[in-house]
Amino acid sequence: MKKIISALSCILISTFLISCATKKASPQNTDDNNHKVKVMVSIYPLKEFTEKIGGDNVEVNCLVPDNMEPHDYEPKTKDFENLINSDAFIYNGLGMESWADQVNNVLDGKKVLVVDSSKGVEIRKEGELVDPHSWLGLTQAKKQCENIKDTLISLDEKNKQVYEDNYESFKLELESLYNEYLPKFESLAKKDFITGHAAFGYLCRDFGLTQKSVENLYGEGEPTPKELESLVNFCKDNKIKTIFSESLASPKVSETLASEVGASVVPIYTLESKEDNKSYLEAMKSDLEEIYNCLSQK
Ligand SMILES: [Zn+2]
Repeated sequence: MKKIISALSCILISTFLISCATKKASPQNTDDNNHKVKVMVSIYPLKEFTEKIGGDNVEVNCLVPDNMEPHDYEPKTKDFENLINSDAFIYNGLGMESWADQVNNVLDGKKVLVVDSSKGVEIRKEGELVDPHSWLGLTQAKKQCENIKDTLISLDEKNKQVYEDNYESFKLELESLYNEYLPKFESLAKKDFITGHAAFGYLCRDFGLTQKSVENLYGEGEPTPKELESLVNFCKDNKIKTIFSESLASPKVSETLASEVGASVVPIYTLESKEDNKSYLEAMKSDLEEIYNCLSQK
């Protein structure tokens, strides 16, 4: 099936490129003063970062639609059209977008600045696999925001100071949330929590915590009966009273596990899509508070 889809998307891309070649140059690089910098991002948190830093000077669109699990996303022909009309394409990197090469091929030779927002991030791995969820670590999100800020400055030098100022104030908010929770987590004896898919590795690294998950890094693979049994035993041995559940992963398995061990199910946000109308900082604060509550239970 995957092969058929790839072949199909190749045909779609080629058809699209041929039809594009006859179009007039897009107006994105004209120098009028009212022109907003048009940025296409891949996933939700990058949209919010870019809006925070860009303010009114920037128009941001997101490729992966709301309420879609980005690990399952495949770009459509319409998406490529929107991409080509942007000044920049900012993606997360670290393998979050399995389709990034496909997009980069389409953008090759076009006047769209392609930016890997994870450049300079301290990469974490799980075995051989790179963990793509860098934005869930406040310390690494800061680096991604810095890359976004530099991108906006390179596209719109005259508003450099605006971007620097917006970045500085957002950076302070990230740091203040980190500084608020670091001593709280340090004071706890319990460090392990259970979640839906293994998205919280960077968050855990920031605060010296450990996640155990129902699904793997890419939100794939429900646990085998044996794995489920080992999770159940882990919960019982560690008196775990809370199982975190992500609306985009598989809440059903979290619920089964919770009922098996007499724990309650609490929502946690991966921010892979906008959820419950919460901003990035609100969702991060909620995650940290819920994890703290879970770990401080006796
Ligand atoms: Zn994920």
